[in-house]
Amino acid sequence: MRLPHVLGIEAAGEVAGLGPSAAGARVGDRVVVVRAVTCGACAACLAGDDNLCAGRQTFGVDRPGGYAEYLLAPQRNLLPLPATLGFEEAAAIQVAFSTAWFMLVERARVRAAETVLVTAGGSGVGSAAVQIARQAGARVIATAGSEAKRERLLALGAHAAVSHARPDWADEVRRLTGGPGVDLVFEHVGGATWTAALSLLRRGGRVVTCGAHGGEQVPLDLIDLFRRQATLLGSYSAPTRSVLEVLRLVAAGVFRPVLHATLPLVDASRAHALLAAREAFGKVVLVPA
Ligand SMILES: [Zn+2]
Repeated sequence: MRLPHVLGIEAAGEVAGLGPSAAGARVGDRVVVVRAVTCGACAACLAGDDNLCAGRQTFGVDRPGGYAEYLLAPQRNLLPLPATLGFEEAAAIQVAFSTAWFMLVERARVRAAETVLVTAGGSGVGSAAVQIARQAGARVIATAGSEAKRERLLALGAHAAVSHARPDWADEVRRLTGGPGVDLVFEHVGGATWTAALSLLRRGGRVVTCGAHGGEQVPLDLIDLFRRQATLLGSYSAPTRSVLEVLRLVAAGVFRPVLHATLPLVDASRAHALLAAREAFGKVVLVPA
């Protein structure tokens, strides 16, 4: 990473200017920026799996991101913004919804009438997963730390919301399944949460994960893994096709982006404090002056 660095993985806005080789986009077009720049030429990119491109560079991580008035992006990273979506909503959709969509629909192939456990449902990706699993016809059990967040999860479509602050939260989830455990775990926490969630899988169940802020190294009992015939699925970001799909579905009103707060860009430190305090339900969006 080159310093000074500009944070911000996702961004939306108007095209302010075009380079000499840009064609197709016009100044003033409303766009959302695909979160990573990929080579467009490797086997993964050509197969449509651009999330697996070895040359992938993510905005706000490997190149300057969206905490800015202006962002420089290749033209092929610009997706037209549906007229029904505002910039603030558009900036809150991509990471949460395309990541959760790719995990549940493409990687784990969620099916109607399955029971899905969503850990940390109050986060951006968790609140998207609750909506997507519900839309797929699954029975959704989500976890969250506070009563207020659990109420929001029920309003978003979760059939049950369990406090992960309780030491016996896993027992409570098992009780809600009537004993056998869940068909599918949507996991993005890691550490002790991963271990507890894995213990809740029914025989033949599967876990899909995209995160490990709560602990990257976890114990794994191989005998339990094969006897229970469990499937562990990693999932990395999302291919651009998933971004297009979720933009369309949010624009059509099928899914609702969950915004906790919209703050001016100058208050970025306050936005970070909100997230660090784990009090936010959904995304915090920064708006340049
Ligand atoms: Zn590539």
